[in-house]
Amino acid sequence: MVADKATRERVNPEATEDVAPWVHAFIGVGANLGDARATVSKACLDVGKLPGNRMLRQSSLYSSAPHEATGPDFVNAVVEILTSLSPQSLLDQLHQLEANEDRQRPYRNAPRTLDLDVLLFDDQVIRTAALTVPHPRMLQRAFVLLPLAEIAPERVSALQLQAVNGQVIRKLM
Ligand code: AMP
Repeated sequence: MVADKATRERVNPEATEDVAPWVHAFIGVGANLGDARATVSKACLDVGKLPGNRMLRQSSLYSSAPHEATGPDFVNAVVEILTSLSPQSLLDQLHQLEANEDRQRPYRNAPRTLDLDVLLFDDQVIRTAALTVPHPRMLQRAFVLLPLAEIAPERVSALQLQAVNGQVIRKLM
């Protein structure tokens, strides 16, 4: 039997072919270099405007001290999109948006002008060389769970929020 496109995509998340049907994905957006607030606001819009993407919901902006990272405080947000891109194509497009902001990687966890992570892609579990989804550290990060809970409370449990309760984070107006 010949698998349809969507089935092939689930079997091979490294495929770069962009396929329908549309799926819900959540993207983590963060920055702590330059005008982080302006960069995160713009990046949230840019993610939704990528060909093959539609913006559904955007969280407030949050500020938090660096967690497993260095430098100034971070500005973070989470966006929910509908996407017809494959997981790998979506990651490639996010890397292009990072590059547009002159993202440098001088060392692990260095301060960054823009960081874009695929948090969730439908309900898919993806393990490739380039991509791990659900994002492996999202449950340890208040700066992911709080904005995610704001726009998609059904995706975050009270227990998960309790586990990051000690992390300092504040909502920006
Ligand atoms: P960073 O330097 O923090 O942007 O890390 C990016 C690296 O993590 C890239 O090489 C990605 O291929 C990899 N990666 C693995 N899983 C994910 C994910 N869910 N979202 C974004 N990048 C990921």
